[in-house]
Amino acid sequence: MIFYFYHLVLVEMDMKELIRPELITMKSYTPIEPMDILSQRAELSVEGIIKLDGNENLYGCSPKVYQALANYPYYYIYPDPEQRRLRQALEKYTGLNREHIVCGSGSDEIIDLILRLFLKPGDKVINCPPTFGMYPFSTAVCGGKVVDVPRDEGFTIDLAGIRSVLDKKTKVISVASPNNPTGNIITEQEITELVNTGKIVMVDEAYFEFSNVTMANLVPNYSNLIVLRTFSKWAGLAGLRIGYGIFPTEIASYLMKIKQPYNVNVAAQAAALASLADIEYLRGNVAKIVAERERLFNKLKELEWLKPYPSSANFILCSIHSNSERRSEESPAKEIWRLLQKKGIFVRYFDSPRLRNYLRISVGKPEDTEALIGALKESMLS
Ligand SMILES: *Cc1c(COP(=O)(O)O)cnc(C)c1O
Repeated sequence: MIFYFYHLVLVEMDMKELIRPELITMKSYTPIEPMDILSQRAELSVEGIIKLDGNENLYGCSPKVYQALANYPYYYIYPDPEQRRLRQALEKYTGLNREHIVCGSGSDEIIDLILRLFLKPGDKVINCPPTFGMYPFSTAVCGGKVVDVPRDEGFTIDLAGIRSVLDKKTKVISVASPNNPTGNIITEQEITELVNTGKIVMVDEAYFEFSNVTMANLVPNYSNLIVLRTFSKWAGLAGLRIGYGIFPTEIASYLMKIKQPYNVNVAAQAAALASLADIEYLRGNVAKIVAERERLFNKLKELEWLKPYPSSANFILCSIHSNSERRSEESPAKEIWRLLQKKGIFVRYFDSPRLRNYLRISVGKPEDTEALIGALKESMLS
């Protein structure tokens, strides 16, 4: 017995020595929570929750997805490691040859794979905050170093600033377009300038279907341009984890080599195929969301203490201006976030200095807009 305890203590003491030191100190990613957890937190039923914090598609997925999942006969067989049917269907959807396409368990996995392919310990990734938190997260997990080049006041990327920090250790420049959480897009000229630096340029188009602006057609012209896409937002498949990247063929073949062989599960593949077979329906929902985005924008603009930023995606970033009556330590944005939460309305608040006066609101259905605007007006009176 004594020997046993002694052994246990030794193992515990060694742990921090064994773990990679940069992972002990790295900042963790702040994820959003699913419906059941939010409903417990708000002490409301799941039906009483209005979830506008994850840029999910509140119209849900195509009804054909439920059919495809119910009828799929081979859950007991491993998925196709070459992702043949899916890459073929995506060839038609993107207009690009399947040799350019690699699928993953969400585009989050594709980000991780790209960084694992290119980063040696200490290699650098250019990040343009405020932006999506997975780029610094995956960079850290892959042993790389994040070099932040902040966006300007209007959230445009700082091209000169990016050029000035590039060196031999810089491997990847990551930019989202439309950017999350700011909603603005990057121009083709900006992308060409980034590509001309010779670094790997990763353009994350998770919200492409809401903006209709893409750099995908440029990919075959360059050896260092990557475009990322996902089914999570436009196709309503966030919970099934399916995304893809469009790559120069050489990069695509290395990614196919280093990915986990069965990285996309059969349910996700069946759901993505069913979605691509029901594009008109899904585009109808995207059109409704885009129309609702404009309606929500105009309603938000009417509140004088809040400023919405124009968005090409399915969410709107708002700065919260004055709330002078309050004497709280918290930023007014966080206070509004908390008040909305009490009413079962969840929006995204970011715990970062640059965004402490902002909220990001996902676009839902018309009734969600009504509830949100009503609650925002009440929150100013309370
Ligand atoms: C939501 C989001 C993703 C994540 O997509 P998944 O396919 O669900 O992993 C990627 N990039 C950006 C900018 C996003 O906002």
